Amino acid sequence: MQHHFIANASVPSTSGRTIAVIDPSDGQPFDEIPRGTAEDIDAAVHAARQCWRAVWHKTSAADRGRLLMRLSHKVLEHADELTALEQRDCGKPTKQARADALALARYFEFYAGACDKLHGETIPYLDGYSVFTWREPHGVTGHVIPWNYPMQIFGRSVGGALAAGNVCVVKPAEDACLSLIRVAQLAAEVGFPAGALNIVTGYGHEVGDALARHPGIDHISFTGSPRVGTLIQQAAAERHCPVTLELGGKSPQIVFADADLDAAVPVLINAIVQNAGQTCSAGSRVLIDSLIYEPLLERLGQAFSALRVGPAAMDLDLGPLIRQTQQQRVWDFLSDAQVAGIPLVAQGSVVDEAPDTGYYQAPTLLRDVPVQHRLAQEEVFGPVLAAMSFDDEDHAIELANATQFGLVAGVWTRDGARQFRMARRLQCGQVFINNYGAAGGVELPFGGVKSSGYGREKGMEALYGFTTLKTVAVRHG
Ligand code: NAD
Repeated sequence: MQHHFIANASVPSTSGRTIAVIDPSDGQPFDEIPRGTAEDIDAAVHAARQCWRAVWHKTSAADRGRLLMRLSHKVLEHADELTALEQRDCGKPTKQARADALALARYFEFYAGACDKLHGETIPYLDGYSVFTWREPHGVTGHVIPWNYPMQIFGRSVGGALAAGNVCVVKPAEDACLSLIRVAQLAAEVGFPAGALNIVTGYGHEVGDALARHPGIDHISFTGSPRVGTLIQQAAAERHCPVTLELGGKSPQIVFADADLDAAVPVLINAIVQNAGQTCSAGSRVLIDSLIYEPLLERLGQAFSALRVGPAAMDLDLGPLIRQTQQQRVWDFLSDAQVAGIPLVAQGSVVDEAPDTGYYQAPTLLRDVPVQHRLAQEEVFGPVLAAMSFDDEDHAIELANATQFGLVAGVWTRDGARQFRMARRLQCGQVFINNYGAAGGVELPFGGVKSSGYGREKGMEALYGFTTLKTVAVRHG
């Protein structure tokens, strides 16, 4: 039985109610988390504010960095334990869950080093004045985390916020809390003061909403669906609270006829099957030069047919989807495709060992997907790749930019001038040329345009979002 983690202590919910934790590999409950309430959020915000007033805002940047570095090391020491928790909770194959644990340690390491490198500027002004800027923390930041990469998204969001001098109240997704509760305990063990990092679990419409509305929250970092992003933004707007939104995507991978296909094919596959396609930056559309459409589809089809799906512990190419409703969502997309007559190129297979009660979906490659079909427009959030062909550069750009999203894009070509032209014209937050960084490094600022959200996390850029700028003008005596 799990508890909230507030002011460095494990506390039950005031509701006395719990939510079952389900293993997606077999659909069976194996633990319980508290079903939090608005009162629980209030307690966490109170603890955070106390910490900020009494301790954290007086803690030097160098000392914040030392604590984050200790936490990074602690996460590495506990990497096996965190891997096992994430694997069971989210259904991730071992290699994916382990990569997430290591990425979490890396986020803390990067932001440990960043704490004392965040500074303002001096500004030339009138004679007799000195003008400079300070980067100040917001105070108490709220973090609403999705279930697809709990550790990674927690690391990039909370790591940056703590580094910038904030204290945090975190609401993990109801489907995936276990690793984050454990990380908060580890933070207490390495010396984070009580209230610096608080976790309140529960449903989005209950605790998530309470967090977004709480007057003691000074900034909200939300990662999740566009629908909930709108709700968060509306709630925050009531009190003019700043928000960072990391939302969905329908990211294109664009392959020109001169591309190195040996390099491209494994990356194109990984970008859609990693985490069973439940990745905001999944390369879920492949736009292929008509000159190589048939041969590339054939290669991709062969690779898809060889992919195997099974229980997380088998560590195959894909594990299960997170829950039954997600599985149903993917089935709905596939049946719509069938009704529309969209041709199936290839599918992987679910292994015999996979229990019928688990949430499995074979990776699926579809071709000639019309640009206006929902498969080319909406986020499936499953291992479904939509292929379409283009005639020239202009056509590729038109297709690539023809969705409401703009998160990531991949371009595969050996033509240097075209690489730059494409990078300029794509509407998105990140462009990868001859690679695709769905799990790109912490150094690289990440975020979207259009309905993929706004604000940036990762890199030094994130620290600007987690701070506010104060201008000080001094008239000499
Ligand atoms: P979701 O929006 O349903 O849930 C995300 C979080 O919001 C959860 O913690 C949930 O409990 C909470 N929530 C739900 N309703 C709420 C409400 N009314 N008020 C406040 N909080 C509420 O999304 P999901 O299904 O967990 O995650 C999948 C989505 O997240 C996809 O759209 C995916 O693209 C997106 N995502 C984006 C990024 C990114 O960095 N851009 C990363 C990962 C996932």
